[in-house]
Amino acid sequence: MAKLRGPHLSTPLTLLGSDRDALLRGDETILEPGEDVRYLVSRAGAVSLREDEDGTLHASLETEDPRGGTRQPLVLLGRREGYRVLGVEVPEPSPELDDPGRDLRDLRRIADRLHERDADLAAAAVAMGFWHRSMRHCPQCGAVLEAEMAGWVLRCPEDGTEQFPRTDPAVIMAVRDAQDRLLLARNAHFPTGFHSVLAGFVEPGESLENAVVREVGEEVGVIVEEVEYMGSQPWPFPRSLMLGYRAWAAGSAELTLQDEEIAEARWFTREELAAALEADEIQLPGSASMGRALIDDWYGRSAQK
Ligand SMILES: [Zn+2]
Repeated sequence: MAKLRGPHLSTPLTLLGSDRDALLRGDETILEPGEDVRYLVSRAGAVSLREDEDGTLHASLETEDPRGGTRQPLVLLGRREGYRVLGVEVPEPSPELDDPGRDLRDLRRIADRLHERDADLAAAAVAMGFWHRSMRHCPQCGAVLEAEMAGWVLRCPEDGTEQFPRTDPAVIMAVRDAQDRLLLARNAHFPTGFHSVLAGFVEPGESLENAVVREVGEEVGVIVEEVEYMGSQPWPFPRSLMLGYRAWAAGSAELTLQDEEIAEARWFTREELAAALEADEIQLPGSASMGRALIDDWYGRSAQK
C-alpha cells in the first residue's frame, strides 16, 4: 500500500492502494455472467459479510446472481483474486425476496472489524448502492435512466444527458483553544450524552478551509484563524466524504450556541474528558469515524475503549 506524507489521520475506511479496475468499466462484456463473477450485496448502507472465528469480517462474495430476475443495476467494484466483483443493491426484504442465509450489516457499525482488503469494496458497494437506489430518473426530463460504464454512469435515453455518482464534501474539525482544550458538542439530533467534534457540509463555491471557519462560527460563535488538514475518509451514508481538520480558536473561547443545531457544547481538558468518560456522562463516536480519530489525535491515545 502507498504511504502518505505529512501529518495524517486515518480510519478503517481510509485506504491507500486499493484497485477498482476503473479502466475495465468501458468493456461492454464486463458485467456478463461467468465462472469468474462474484456478487457483493448491499442494502441501504449495509453490506453482506461473513465473520471469521476471530471476529474479523469479510465481504461475502456470492456465486449466484442475487437479483432474482429483477432489473437492479450491476456495478463493477473491481477484481479480487481473479474474480470480477459486481455490486448489487437489493430492495427491502419481502415475502418474495428475502435474504437466504445472508448477513447484512451496517457498514458504519462494523467498519473497524472489516478486513482491510475488503474495506474499499464495502464502501464502494454501499455508496454505489445508495446512488442507484436514489437516482432513477433524468433530472432534465424524467425519463428512466439506463446504466452504462459498468454501472458508474446513468444515461438518459431521451436527451442523452449523463449522471455521475456524487460525493458531498463535509468538513469535520477538532477545535482547540489557547489552553489546548478541545471543543466537544452534542448535536440536537444526537442522543443524550453523545458528544463529538463539529462538522458540516461544504457549501457551493466555498473552499474547505472557509467551510471550517464558517461552520465553527455559525455553530458555536468561535472565531477560527488556523486550520490544518489531517486526512479523509469516505462516509457513504448516503454520499459524504469527511475531510478532517485540526483548528485553533483565536481570541475568546466563549461559546454562543446555534439553538436548532447544537444542544450542548463545552471545552474539555484531557483530564476533564477522562473524568466525564469514566463517570459515563458522555459517549464519543465509534472508532471507525473521522470524528473519533480527531478526538484521539488531540487526546494523545484512544480516548475510549
Ligand atoms: Zn432526460
